[in-house]
Amino acid sequence: MEINDAANTPLPDNRRPDVLSKLLYDVLVELGEDPSRPGLVKTPQRWAEALITYTQGMTQEPEEHLNVIFKLEEDDYPSESDDMVLLDNIQFVSTCEHHMAPIRGVAHIGYIPNNKSRVITGLSKIARVVSVFANRLQVQEQLTQQIATAIDKHLDPLGVIVVIQAVHYCMIQRGVRQHDTRTLTTARRGAFLSKSELEFKFQEYLKLKINTNNL
Ligand code: ZN
Repeated sequence: MEINDAANTPLPDNRRPDVLSKLLYDVLVELGEDPSRPGLVKTPQRWAEALITYTQGMTQEPEEHLNVIFKLEEDDYPSESDDMVLLDNIQFVSTCEHHMAPIRGVAHIGYIPNNKSRVITGLSKIARVVSVFANRLQVQEQLTQQIATAIDKHLDPLGVIVVIQAVHYCMIQRGVRQHDTRTLTTARRGAFLSKSELEFKFQEYLKLKINTNNL
C-alpha cells in the first residue's frame, strides 16, 4: 500500500472550475458522447464544481477545528483516569484516489483525555476532522491513520482509536462487483496500543448503541 505524504499537505484553493470543465468536455467527446446535447450541455461545469466540493479538504487543515479545546477541571478528572470520549457512526463520503470513485462509510472514534493536561475538544470538531480528511483523494487505510494522527497530535490524549467501516464504489461498479463487502480499518495510538483491554472496552461501548436507537 502506497501512502502518499503529499495528501497530508493542504494546498491553496486555486482550483479553476472553468479549466476543469473544459477537460471533462474533452473526456465526453473521447467517450463518444455529444457534449452539446441538452442533457450534457451543463454537465462539465456541474462536474467541475462538484469535484472541487468533493476535494475541499485538500485546502483545509484539521488544526482549524482541533484548536478549539476545553479543559476538564482537575477535580472532575482524576489523574489515574482512563475514561474515554467516544463518538460512533460519523458518516462520511470520500473519493478513492485509485479510481476517483466514491467511498461511503462511518467512523467510530474514541480518545482518552490526557490526565495531566485534561484537554478535550468540541464533539462536533471530531466529526469536522473526519470531514477534512474525507474530502481529499483517499485510500481508506490512510484516511483512518490521518484522523488518528491529527487527534493524537493536537489533543495529546493518553490514547486514541479510529475504526472505519466503508463500502468502495470501485468494488461495486467494476472489477469484482462486490456489493456487500465492507472494508474495516483501524488506527490506534498511545494507550490503545499498549493496553488491549481498552480496545475491548471501546468495542463494548460501541455495542451500547443497540439500546439507544430511539434517542
Ligand atoms: Zn478504488
